[in-house]
Amino acid sequence: MVGGWSPAAADRTTASEEETQAVARELAATLKPGDVLLLAGDLGAGKTTFVKGLAAGLGIDPGDVSSPTFTLLHEYRGGRLTLYHADLYRLDKTATDDLGLDETGVRDGVLAIEWPDRLSHDLAGARVIRLDVVDDVSRRITIDPKPPPTND
Ligand code: ADP
Ligand code: MG
Repeated sequence: MVGGWSPAAADRTTASEEETQAVARELAATLKPGDVLLLAGDLGAGKTTFVKGLAAGLGIDPGDVSSPTFTLLHEYRGGRLTLYHADLYRLDKTATDDLGLDETGVRDGVLAIEWPDRLSHDLAGARVIRLDVVDDVSRRITIDPKPPPTND
């Protein structure tokens, strides 16, 4: 059922962890430096699984990707683009001001953020990917359309 993803809004239901990663791999092929993906969804919805798929699609070993609960920002190099992976679960809103997530260093790669509702301010050009639990093995994935380019 993977295939046919377009830069426009997309809504997919996957029936396994592997399918979720396949959707992410496909999206990864379209990513450009500076792209920011906000991964919204409850604990166990598949956010980290999705990031593993992004890694695979960028040519990074998905086995390198773990949930960076204690390290706020992980950095995976060696792929087509550097993948930055943040998990803000343990932060409260005020703490995110100092993270520097929108500083220039991240602009050479792609930034994927779990628990983006913890962000205290919007990140330019960020795109929401929502994962919802359907049942034990199924997840609905809603991908926002790509926002228009910004002059920042
Ligand atoms: P999160 O980072 O959102 O807390 P994880 O990706 O760490 O979630 O975990 C998702 C869990 O859900 C894993 O245990 C995975 O095996 C399970 N799962 C079951 N079905 C799916 C699916 N269709 N897509 C992704 N994960 C799934
Ligand atoms: Mg996670």
